[in-house]
Amino acid sequence: MQGFVYQAQPARVVFGHGTFRQLPEEVARLGLERALVLATPQQAQEAERIAATLGGRSVGTFSEATMHTPVEVTERAMKVVAARGADGVIAVGGGSTTGLGKAIALRSDLPQIVVPTTYAGSEMTPILGETVAGRKTTQVSPKILPEVVIYDVDLTLTLPVGLSGTSGINAIAHAVEGLYAKEANPIVSLMAEEGIRALACALPKIAQDPLDRAARSDALYGAFLCGAVLGAVGMALHHKLCHTLGGSFDLPHAETHTIVLPHALAYNAAAAPQAVARVGRALGAGNAPLALYELAGAVGAPRALRDLGMPESGIAEAAEIALANPYWNPAPLDRGRIEALIRRAWEGSPPA
Ligand code: NAD
Repeated sequence: MQGFVYQAQPARVVFGHGTFRQLPEEVARLGLERALVLATPQQAQEAERIAATLGGRSVGTFSEATMHTPVEVTERAMKVVAARGADGVIAVGGGSTTGLGKAIALRSDLPQIVVPTTYAGSEMTPILGETVAGRKTTQVSPKILPEVVIYDVDLTLTLPVGLSGTSGINAIAHAVEGLYAKEANPIVSLMAEEGIRALACALPKIAQDPLDRAARSDALYGAFLCGAVLGAVGMALHHKLCHTLGGSFDLPHAETHTIVLPHALAYNAAAAPQAVARVGRALGAGNAPLALYELAGAVGAPRALRDLGMPESGIAEAAEIALANPYWNPAPLDRGRIEALIRRAWEGSPPA
């Protein structure tokens, strides 16, 4: 065994069916008396229902969370926090809502409880991506990490089939890059392999039957593990490319991750053979990049960036931006190879 450094993230996790009913207990445990419940407009009713379970310990809801955490929305939310004297936030939703809770916590140091309803995994990380005047910036701070995460499988039953598949593969991407991360260590790799296994088994079942409670439970468990991986170690080429593509061409987050992942893994395969072998083992497949490509097909996800609206002329531009700020990656960053990778992802060809 080689030496390693493992830094645990201090979050409390409650997992199960119907666990949102434990929210009042968790709110009391944190000593909150005036919690503000956050959601997107689409999940406003869910937020109202959850705020109602808190009785006098809630100061109501703020349901304006939106993609990419624009600072204008955070500023509006901060005014509501101040006007109502909120002493904590409860984010109910996917990565967008969690992002708003984190942005508030970064500015106010208020405690956060997250009740995730997608598989994005943001709740397990001290990372915040915000948009300032259309530009996405990323920050890391202990203030950003939520104090408590309540995973309630029942709240994921309504996640549409399409988003379930892409959000789940977005989670798998965290674990894949965690396995070959610069800071990779045996503890995080255990979580990564188990997270990939749980999600890869569950996602095709969910595509067939979105109300399959056992598959939903496995997927949420996998998402938790993959989120913990993202929170513990640095990412590489895949996440950088998705960040570039999403920001430059306004492509949807989870779909972009789903399309790029098989190609990014193929790019790094020769430089990270042990990581690729573990991904393959978790997927029960000899060719891990191809198995990820097939998984996307099995969950009915898009497989070509052109189908998301990216223009062909963007391929060279994306390669240029992705190389502008060098970062760590197991395989050297080569302009020709990166451009070829993006082209395959753009066309929807199998990874090579
Ligand atoms: P999302 O939060 O944008 O949700 C997409 C839509 O689905 C929203 O309208 C939401 O209300 C709805 N929805 C969510 N759960 C639902 C459910 N159970 N039933 C019905 N509708 C539901 O999507 P996402 O993929 O979870 O999050 C993407 C965002 O998260 C991106 O901005 C990404 O950058 C961020 N993210 C951040 C981190 C991090 O560590 N900082 C990690 C992963 C993702």
